[in-house]
Amino acid sequence: MKEIRASKVSALANLFLTVAKVLAGILVNSTALIADGVHSLIDVLGSILVWIGIRVASKPPDELHPYGHFKAESLAELSVGIIILISALAIIHEAITSFLEMSTPEFEFYALLVALISAMVNELLARYKIKVGIETKSSSLVAEGKHSRVDVLSSISVFVGYLFAGFGYWWADPLIAIVVSVLIIQMGVEILRNAVNSVMDRVDPELALKVKSAVERIEGVEGVEFVGVRGTWKAKIVEVHVNINPGMSAETIDVLEREIEERVKSTVSNVVRVVTVVKVKRPMVVAIPEDGKGNYTGELDSPYFTVIDFNAKRRFRIENPHAKAEKRKGYLIAELLSRHGVNVVVLRKVGVGAKSHLRSRGILIRFEEGKTVEDVVKRLA
Ligand SMILES: [Zn+2]
Repeated sequence: MKEIRASKVSALANLFLTVAKVLAGILVNSTALIADGVHSLIDVLGSILVWIGIRVASKPPDELHPYGHFKAESLAELSVGIIILISALAIIHEAITSFLEMSTPEFEFYALLVALISAMVNELLARYKIKVGIETKSSSLVAEGKHSRVDVLSSISVFVGYLFAGFGYWWADPLIAIVVSVLIIQMGVEILRNAVNSVMDRVDPELALKVKSAVERIEGVEGVEFVGVRGTWKAKIVEVHVNINPGMSAETIDVLEREIEERVKSTVSNVVRVVTVVKVKRPMVVAIPEDGKGNYTGELDSPYFTVIDFNAKRRFRIENPHAKAEKRKGYLIAELLSRHGVNVVVLRKVGVGAKSHLRSRGILIRFEEGKTVEDVVKRLA
């Protein structure tokens, strides 16, 4: 894989810089060089983290990770962001110290040379990683590329600071360092934000709206209730909840689901899975058993029912001729309610037989307490 090779190359190049800086630092007895070598060692760590992140992210889903391992890449990106912020803080600390001490950096030819070589190597790495990162849609590799660019900036600032110091402007070095740190912090925060958004499953509102309007146009979809898009740049999981009208056959729903999947995949790139939840939308028509005087009885074999159609805002009372039926009482009452379009009946208790008769007609049971029909209506609202 190209992106794994890029992170390996980056780790090796930084390892080379580490050894070169630390060796030169020991030879010329320069703490600045040794410190810079330590920074390169942290860069090796960053490259290795991205390498591991990309490797883990490419693993297929397994039993314990049914959604895949994509977010390993976001975690790698998160650590790169943290490394960048820590380097910025270290530079600021150094700059403030030299401001307070009003110290002129000692001119060291080696340090200048190493800063220059380091800047060039890092610029090459930055270009390489950003290019491969964009090609393979690897956000952590792009973040690592930006990190290398940060290191170019800080090397150049060391270089320029030395030059100014050579002309006697002692304060130029720490000043440039602080300006550079602000740029570095901006970049680090941007990378962190990107990683945190992915870990937190933040939805891009524009993308969600695109999915919503694409799915809404599919024939048979009455409305889109929920759209969720999560994952990484490379691999996204889209969840869509749609409403359909009652009476659609299981086969038609199956076709509809596949159509939704195709439509989502053509609207959003890099979708690895589409989760569709289909809900049958029915206007709520509620039956409340009563005694004919507006008192709630809570039992199915009551002499009357108040029926409320919440959508049409219609309300009427029906008589129950089967209240005292000897046989098949549950069946007959369920049949009666179904004929009036009822799909929810409010009760205190219900027998097993009646329950299954209601269920087979698609009537839900809702348990409520109350003295009068009005009490129950208030609870439903
Ligand atoms: Zn670095």
